[in-house]
Amino acid sequence: MFVVRKKHTPEQHTMSFNFNLPKVTSIIYPALCLNCNCKISSKEQAICLECDHNLPRTNFQNRKENQFLVRFWGRIPVHAASAMYLFNGNESVRKMIHELKYHGKTDIGTRIGKILGKRLRKNANFDDVDMILPVPLHWERQRERGYNQSDSFAEGLADSMVRICHKDNLERKINTISQTKKSVVERIENVANIFEVKNPKLLEGKHILLVDDVVTTGATLEACAEAILKIPDTTVSMATIAITV
Ligand SMILES: [Zn+2]
Repeated sequence: MFVVRKKHTPEQHTMSFNFNLPKVTSIIYPALCLNCNCKISSKEQAICLECDHNLPRTNFQNRKENQFLVRFWGRIPVHAASAMYLFNGNESVRKMIHELKYHGKTDIGTRIGKILGKRLRKNANFDDVDMILPVPLHWERQRERGYNQSDSFAEGLADSMVRICHKDNLERKINTISQTKKSVVERIENVANIFEVKNPKLLEGKHILLVDDVVTTGATLEACAEAILKIPDTTVSMATIAITV
């Protein structure tokens, strides 16, 4: 094979290699719809137009009172809340969350985060958010899985909203056991006081967007918000990929 070599200094060589890498990967891995795997133009970003039309979007960000916020009434003050999709009864949404959570498809989180972030950035309920915090896993769980499924979603949101994403400031101190067979009351008790803010000064006076993959009872998000709201002048809003209703 004939290879044309250009003269580069070592620095120039590194720069030109990094610059060319995205082009090469986009040829090998064309952008595919997260849901149906059809090829998509980069303009459409995550989901093809047809899937985007059919997936059950909540558009909760446009309503000051919605099914997400109502879940926290009488529990903790939440400024605004939105989920991208309804989880119940939709096989596509269930499949995307499953792939993100158990099969390492973190680009699902990033790309959905970017779509929702574009909507939240222009929204009066979210436009004064200062920073984004993903709900953390306990370090043992994260070591087993290799990643936190909420991190990529938080990064996508941060990218579109042009905000800072703090992945390490909130810590889960206790590794809670599987919550699937517990009652709502038991689940709430199980997560109370398990989160801790490592550097409270960073959050003082800030509007924090807490993010998770799915909201069900809201117990985990509530426990995180409790830890944050102990810090003076903090405001908490929430965003998830999906919500069970
Ligand atoms: Zn599609």
